[in-house]
Amino acid sequence: MDRIVLASGNRGKLQELEQLLSELTMQLIPQTALGVGDVAETGLSFVENALIKARHACQETGLPSIADDSGLEVDALNGEPGIYSARFSGIFGKEADAANNARLLAEMEQVAEAERSARFHCVIVYLRYARDPMPLICQGSWEGSILFEESGSGGFGYDPLFYVPTHQCASAQLTPKIKNSLSHRGQALRQLLQCFNTRR
Ligand code: IMP
Repeated sequence: MDRIVLASGNRGKLQELEQLLSELTMQLIPQTALGVGDVAETGLSFVENALIKARHACQETGLPSIADDSGLEVDALNGEPGIYSARFSGIFGKEADAANNARLLAEMEQVAEAERSARFHCVIVYLRYARDPMPLICQGSWEGSILFEESGSGGFGYDPLFYVPTHQCASAQLTPKIKNSLSHRGQALRQLLQCFNTRR
């Protein structure tokens, strides 16, 4: 069975990626299981950062890799936190999600309900090898708005503050299956699966 490295150490994202990619007949190995650490995300866009992460995983392991880069774009904050979503509060590790949500709530305190539009974006790339000149690049976006307080305990990251208008709840209140059927990451991954089926 072919092996592919998943270039992410984020547990919430890994769970979603693994669930969504479970129909692949390939073995997906988180990079941490192969001793690969994080690389500096020095790009200025989701696509650049996804490529940096995937290339690093290929370089370190000699295997093909899949990487995603994602984040939240908030209109009232001129698109922030964007590519800096994971590091918005400057706090890392286990406390990062709570600290990021606290900062988002604080920044949005004075923003009226009608002005709270936001969306998640995700770019997923697949590289066959580190210098692959033709990466597969797939993307998805998920529209919503920012709540005034946290709701729900599912998902990860900003899910407790992301209101999903089609389901009238926070994304942290959706089941994993429903979140995957709607989310930016689910959209990008379904595109990737289609590309796999046509190209490989
Ligand atoms: P990355 O690991 O650099 O792609 O960082 C993505 C960050 O964006 C995560 O750490 C979360 O803060 C946020 N994010 C991305 N996707 C989601 C999601 O599905 N739900 C909640 N937060 C997300």
